[in-house]
Amino acid sequence: MIKIKNVLLSAALILTSPHLISKEAPIAIAIHGGAGTIERENFTPMQEKAYKAVLTTAVESGYRVLDKGGDSLDAITAAIQILEQSTYFNAGKGAVYTYEGKHELDASIMDGRNRQAGAVSGVKHIESPIQLARLVMENSVHVMLSGDGAEQFAQQQGIPLVNNTLFDTPRRYEALLKAKKKLDSAKDETKNFQAAHRALPTNYKVGTVGAVALDKNGNLAAGTSTGGMTAKRFGRIGDAPVIGAGTFAENESCAVSATGHGEYFIRYNVASDICARVKYQNKSIAQAGDEVINQVLKPIGGSGGVIIVDATGNIEMVFNTSGMYRASKSNTQATHVGIFKTQ
Ligand code: ASP
Repeated sequence: MIKIKNVLLSAALILTSPHLISKEAPIAIAIHGGAGTIERENFTPMQEKAYKAVLTTAVESGYRVLDKGGDSLDAITAAIQILEQSTYFNAGKGAVYTYEGKHELDASIMDGRNRQAGAVSGVKHIESPIQLARLVMENSVHVMLSGDGAEQFAQQQGIPLVNNTLFDTPRRYEALLKAKKKLDSAKDETKNFQAAHRALPTNYKVGTVGAVALDKNGNLAAGTSTGGMTAKRFGRIGDAPVIGAGTFAENESCAVSATGHGEYFIRYNVASDICARVKYQNKSIAQAGDEVINQVLKPIGGSGGVIIVDATGNIEMVFNTSGMYRASKSNTQATHVGIFKTQ
């Protein structure tokens, strides 16, 4: 009788133990490699496979950090650095060219637990702009450093400067030549470079990489890194390094990284608008993302997309273009990789 009582007691203890009844803490990561006119018919099966392989490697390396109990900032940094190293994406190696034939890189990162943030803009000699953005967040009293000053700071932090040619790729150079041809012919006709730039098809202008993640401690983080737009001029800076536009993270709402026509994303404060709808209007990230990308930006010609993760591990990847390089993984969802509307 006593034996049975003890067994029942142990069973009751096991069942009510907070550790055993608590669900596994959610972890989640999503990444993107740019949105734009990305159509399946322009890819060979080999190319599609190759892009998907890099996206898989990046998302899984970020996920591994989370799975080992690591921090969301470390997870997104790991994933973004893989994309910066790949020549397929417009960030780090493979960055687009400026009108002058150089590369100027922008990046930012945000910590959702305290809204700390770091950003660099217009840097020319930094191999991993996301790493430098993180150092700005962690080791400087500022949020955004630009150009030469950002590079001086990098050297103080022990980051070596690299040659700008490190980012060169023949594919992006060809895109520059095509873009310049269009721009220069339009310039002759209209004598208005700005109008010509506006008329340039989106595909010539966009690309970017980013990541958002939730770690087991409930901390959200977001980061974005880009070469900006092909043939950009006059020190143009896009949305990627602008906190609230291209990147935003706050534990109480969501984490967002954006890609697309940066001028629109800056003016419409896209990343923080999505999180504000979640926070103040109690909307799901699916609804908030759809509203901003499809109902606010699309009608005014703001093309692009976002990846979003919330504090419970939901993931959304929303875009109003024909494609967006993307991948995600969580403790309840196997690795998902997509490029086109239909995956
Ligand atoms: N948003 C980036 C920029 O405007 C480009 C992109 O995401 O494709 O610089």
